[in-house]
Amino acid sequence: MRVENFFQPDIVPIQKVQYGGLIFDVLRMDKIHSGTSGNKFFKLKYNFIEAEKKGHKKILTFGGAFSNHIHATAIAAKACEFEAIGVIRGDEMQNNTLNEAAQNGMHLHFVDRGKYKEKNKPSFQKSLKDLFGDVFIIPEGGTNAKAIKGTKEIMDLIPSQYDLICAPFGTGGTLAGIINAKKDHQHVWGFSALKGEWAKEKLEELTSHQNGWQLHTDYHFGGYAKWKPELVEFIEDFYEKTAIPLDPVYTGKMLYGVLMEWKKGNISPEQNVLAIHTGGLQGISGFNNRFGFDLPAS
Ligand SMILES: *Cc1c(COP(=O)(O)O)cnc(C)c1O
Repeated sequence: MRVENFFQPDIVPIQKVQYGGLIFDVLRMDKIHSGTSGNKFFKLKYNFIEAEKKGHKKILTFGGAFSNHIHATAIAAKACEFEAIGVIRGDEMQNNTLNEAAQNGMHLHFVDRGKYKEKNKPSFQKSLKDLFGDVFIIPEGGTNAKAIKGTKEIMDLIPSQYDLICAPFGTGGTLAGIINAKKDHQHVWGFSALKGEWAKEKLEELTSHQNGWQLHTDYHFGGYAKWKPELVEFIEDFYEKTAIPLDPVYTGKMLYGVLMEWKKGNISPEQNVLAIHTGGLQGISGFNNRFGFDLPAS
């Protein structure tokens, strides 16, 4: 399939939700394609277009064993007829994410954690090119200028009536595109899935606007892919009341944060709030297997 044809977004539904007294809307980007879903669809689009334009046949990228980015890249590469190589952090292992990536033809190359830290170094990238030949490299998490060009298009799905738009933060590529494309009257709130204030500076670097947005850094539940029972209980209850499945790494933390901010009185009833469901549902079965939960994944 031609890359342009694969990256035509489906119609993305906006679902009205009432939870904990807040009435708001959810942009269901988890409904985009079954494989390359959510924000990864937008982040990969112009990277794949570039790879095709430059005549590459192979795409190489990096990620952890539960990475949504690895999973999405494998599926997009198969559909667009690229070979795909996933450089995976840590010892060789199996889980749903990696199995599905491999079933879609991705070659998995495991590297130890020390080596993996060098993923952005030219010398390590050269050694990967020596091993795998002429590869188009997409960074870990997929955030680069091409990704941000793609995530700007998320705003094409969002009517201008919304004045508060909420989305999770991982590497910042998704929020950067949204902030760059927002209208002046729109405010953007990011919710960091990682621990630390560095995320704010990171997002400042990636965006062209320094106003009209804010990054919340109190809802990480201990750090990246960490969780606490309240988070799991919230995800279960939210599903029961809205039928929207949330993942515990990104969207669950973001919506928990939105609802806490509402409870604290930091959102007014007049505000027209839209939360962006960035996908990530493929990772839920791995979380359930590891920790013995039964969170809904669809
Ligand atoms: C990757 C991912 C994010 C983080 O996106 P960034 O562009 O890295 O900030 C958010 N939500 C989900 C579901 C993801 O898979």
